[in-house]
Amino acid sequence: MKGTSHLLIGTIVGAVAGYAVHSDVTTALTGAAVGGISGVVPDLDTNGLASNSITLSKKVSKWLMETAGIVILLTLCYQVMQQGLSHDIYVYGGIGFLLLVVSRLITQRHMLTITGILVVLLGFVLGQSPGILLAGGYIIIASFLPHRSYTHSLIGVGFYAVILTQLYAQWPIDGMVAAGLAGYSSHLFADLKILPVNRRGVKWFLPFWTREF
Ligand SMILES: [Zn+2]
Repeated sequence: MKGTSHLLIGTIVGAVAGYAVHSDVTTALTGAAVGGISGVVPDLDTNGLASNSITLSKKVSKWLMETAGIVILLTLCYQVMQQGLSHDIYVYGGIGFLLLVVSRLITQRHMLTITGILVVLLGFVLGQSPGILLAGGYIIIASFLPHRSYTHSLIGVGFYAVILTQLYAQWPIDGMVAAGLAGYSSHLFADLKILPVNRRGVKWFLPFWTREF
């Protein structure tokens, strides 16, 4: 199923779940937002709506790295002409050169891994917030998984539930856990093979049972 459909379904079930927890408009709206995001999270394992909206585009990052690499190397050339060789120059020269090499090799998937690493760093900055650290871990793992595997299984739901409860422990927002779980789970139902829009099904019981549903 397409990312936009998952977003829509997640938003609806999230709003309902939020309203079930606390029957007021604010909780329903929070639920809608959390559910919508959670509805696209399982597809972080593939290029699409979810991964593209949290990662810098490959083109932009490539350009940034190339420019930074060239600027560093040119500055160093100037410095060598002024002051001759020094230890620092090898280090910065290495960094500039590395940036140029990496900019050639980078793919959108690597960008997702890098985003995950940045989220983990953010978790450390925010006083080692367990929820953010786990969310970063989730993104890094998803960036290496084949499409429609563990993020689309009950283990994925369990991992996401732990992230939600940890986030809730730090930022107690009403309806957040229920809406998040509803949104995430809706994705696993919407990707079922019985629906005519899906060519492939999902392996809910990985790694114990590899049957596609
Ligand atoms: Zn999916």
